[in-house]
Order: sequence, then C-alpha cells, then structure tokens
Amino acid sequence: MWGQPVPTALAPPRAPLVDPFRRAITYLRVSVTDRCDFRCFYCMSEDMTFLPKRDLLTLEELDRVCSVFIERGVRKLRLTGGEPLVRRNIMTLFAGLSRHLASGALDELTLTTNGSQLARFAGELAAHGVRRINVSLDTLDPEKFRRITRWGDFGKVMEGIDAAQAAGLRVKINAVALKDLNEDEIPRLLEWSHGRGMDMTLIEVMPLGEVETQRVDQFLPLSLVRARLGERYTLEDLDERSGGPARYVRVKETGGKLGFITPLTHNFCESCNRVRLTCTGRLYMCLGQEDAADLRTPLRLSEANETLEQAIEEAISRKPKGHDFIIDRRNRPAVARHMSVTGG
Ligand code: SAM
Repeated sequence: MWGQPVPTALAPPRAPLVDPFRRAITYLRVSVTDRCDFRCFYCMSEDMTFLPKRDLLTLEELDRVCSVFIERGVRKLRLTGGEPLVRRNIMTLFAGLSRHLASGALDELTLTTNGSQLARFAGELAAHGVRRINVSLDTLDPEKFRRITRWGDFGKVMEGIDAAQAAGLRVKINAVALKDLNEDEIPRLLEWSHGRGMDMTLIEVMPLGEVETQRVDQFLPLSLVRARLGERYTLEDLDERSGGPARYVRVKETGGKLGFITPLTHNFCESCNRVRLTCTGRLYMCLGQEDAADLRTPLRLSEANETLEQAIEEAISRKPKGHDFIIDRRNRPAVARHMSVTGG
C-alpha cells in the first residue's frame, strides 16, 4: 500500500516587507520606460536624454521583480513611466502579471497614462484584469494642452478616454495644478470629469529634476485651490484613502469625488506604503530622496530569487521617514531626476 496521496503543500506564507517605521510595503510602482511621447514642461526638459535601451530591464525581468514583491506582500501594482504604453510589447507584461490577479495574490493591477495610446490598448488592458486607470490631463483647452505637453495631441487623448470608458475601465483624471495656466479652469475640469463619471485628483507640482521654468512660477498651493473651490461648491470630507496620498472630498453639487495630493503643503509620508522601481532596476524608497538600491545586479546574478530578495529587504530597511520638498526662488530641485524616471 502506498497510502493516501499527500496533499500538495501550500507555500509557507512569506514575511511581509516592513520598513524601520513599521510601514508595510504593499504598493509597488514600476516605471517601465523613461521615454514619453509628450514633453510636459513641468515634468521634462525639452531635450531630454533617454537611457540607452540596453540598460533597461527586459519585460521578463520586470515580471520577475514584480512577482518577488508580490510574494512578499505587495497587493497593488501600478505601471507608469515615462509613458508606459509606449514601451514595446508592454501588453505582454500586463498579460503575465494578470496571473497574480487570478491567483488572488494581487488586488489591483493598474497604470498611469497620458491617454495618447489608450484608443489602441484599452480593450486589451481590460482583458488583462485592469479595472481602473489614472489618466493625466491638465486642461480641456486643446491649444493650452499643446503648450503644456509640447508634443501632445488633445484629440487623441479624448479618443483614448472614450475608448477606456467603452472598455469598462474606471478612469480617474489626474491634473497638476499650475499657477496662471490651469488655475481658472479647475472648476470646468472638475465638472467635466464628474459629468463623465470620472473622479478627479489635483496634484501639487513637485521640484523634481531641472526644467526650463522656475518651479516657483508653476507652483499653486492646493490649500488655496481648495479654499476657492469651497466658495463655489460644497466639499464634504471623506475618510477613505485609496492606499495613496490623496485626501478626498465629495463635491455635493456634482456627486463626484475630488482628491488632493499635497506633497508641499501637507506631507503625507507617515502612511507611505510604497516603493518605486525604475526601468533600469533601481529601487527608490522615496520619491523625494536620492537614495536607491540596485536590483538589476542581484536579479542577473542568479536565476534563483534569494539574492534579489536580500537586496529588496536591505533596501526596505533604508526607507526614509519622508521627503522635504521646498519650492523657492533658488529653484533647486529636491532630487536631480525627473518624475519620468521614477514614475508618477
Ligand atoms: N506618462 C504618464 C502620465 O502622463 O500619466 C505617466 C508618467 S507621468 C510622470 C505621471 C504623473 O506625474 C502625471 O500626472 C504628471 O502630470 C505628473 N508629474 C510629472 N512631473 C511632475 C512634477 N514635477 N510634479 C508633480 N507632478 C508631476
């Protein structure tokens, strides 16, 4: 007698990643490319030098790092960039990562996009289990859109948003509040977003990387925007947090949600649950600090994941308490890298 078949052993639960301030790391953002088809003036300089393609992690390597993070407790994964949808064959990565949604190991697979390629990819994204996406859009005025993005085509973004909604994706509009540029337009953007069933989040401009203009000339404190909106609408505070830094209100008149991301006027680091991986395999433990860990070397050193996991653990043990962004006339960026490198 061979006895009863032994039930397949479940893999033992893995220790979650917890930083020195007892914050569990459950959210990974991955910049899959530093390239973008736009050149938003506050994000990039016009003549950006991009990384040589040979330095990039392959899609298989990106999948492997993400999967290790998921094994160690990451529940939410956001692909970003640069523009994630301009990376060649990016749907292969979404397709691969969707297995973690199917297994229940991952709660959410999502992306942040400028919307330019959505008309092409919305259906596939939905098929790979993406349910909600963030689309960055700072204005509804096509001419202003061109001034902000330098290269963007407003019509394409509108088509992209239509396609995303038609594919059943929930869209959230992210707008950077820009002094003298879109500040008068915020009510219109809000009513347009909410009118189409999309929540909206406003973001303060952050001093990341050298750009041609003075940060102080771009910066519009959201405390001021909120006060102005409060004169026009009834803003009801909501308790909920979407696992991110935004604080939300319900706008009574439109019924929609409005978020405020205020890295400058109100720092939200105490509840930070995230780390960011660049397309070359550098792990940033904080968007506003220079310290990073190289994961590409341990990834390539061995096919087993032990060395990689050790490097991740070591990196998390160095996660700083927070950032200190300052915007003043000296125009010194808090960190040298642009948002497109670390991923927004
Ligand atoms: N290309 C995608 C997009 O447009 O959403 C993803 C990457 S982009 C860097 C992510 C977000 O970062 C966008 O909403 C963009 O407006 C925002 N962003 C870029 N530079 C920023 C800065 N210096 N301060 C605040 N937000 C910034």
